[in-house]
Amino acid sequence: MKRVDEIICSLKKIIEVREKSLHEEGQDYFKCSLCRDRGLIFNGDVVRVCPCVKQHYLELRYQYANITPEIKDYSFESFRLDYYQGGYRKQASAALEGARQFVNDYLENQHTRGLLFTGDVGAGKTYLAGAIANSLLKKNVRVLFLVVPDFLDELRATYNKGNTGEGYEPDDVSLLRGVRQVDVLILDDLGVHNYTPWTCNKLYSLLNYRLNYQLPVIITTNLSLGQLDQFLGERTTSRIVQMCRIYEIHVTKDIRHQKNLYGLQNK
Ligand SMILES: [Zn+2]
Repeated sequence: MKRVDEIICSLKKIIEVREKSLHEEGQDYFKCSLCRDRGLIFNGDVVRVCPCVKQHYLELRYQYANITPEIKDYSFESFRLDYYQGGYRKQASAALEGARQFVNDYLENQHTRGLLFTGDVGAGKTYLAGAIANSLLKKNVRVLFLVVPDFLDELRATYNKGNTGEGYEPDDVSLLRGVRQVDVLILDDLGVHNYTPWTCNKLYSLLNYRLNYQLPVIITTNLSLGQLDQFLGERTTSRIVQMCRIYEIHVTKDIRHQKNLYGLQNK
């Protein structure tokens, strides 16, 4: 076995060669001045991983999780209960608490039950789902944030490719496999869409798989359970009820409108 100082020595040599060739190619610009993009900081015989590596992996996790720059800013701390009036505030507070509790429970037990946020458009459901995603990503949990209509479009496109012989069987594509097996799956906006028997079937098989392997799902929808039943079928809705704690969240005015108003008043 090689000794640690030998390894460090050969690492330094590799880096020197790489930097020499970069210099010759005229690429002396480094994104990280701490480690000169080596990822490692050498201090005599001590080597440590540069903080930029950790940051880089966090950014990659966000990228894989499908988190948009807007959602990246959502957090429990900035969830504003004062947007909710009267009895709605109590509901929103319970939903916020449920979301926080889910993150804590998940970090203790990965087979914890998921959540379903149901209620008006613009009531803060996506915000809570985003805040959950961000909290978990920071704890190295693999999260996938899917906007359901986009996901179904993508799934259909892959399927069509498969039909013309260009692609693979839909069940074999990494798209669906990844969605099935990711640690925490977020299905945002499971609403009124043009569900065909085929898409209903795909959603059922996805949820059924995750139920069997006790992998949590976070769902947001502006439909009631009865309406979900009607659009997705009873067997899918019954899986959702088994897998998720349900929180209702309503608001008198769309929060996104209130925010715009608030922004204007502040100017
Ligand atoms: Zn660095």
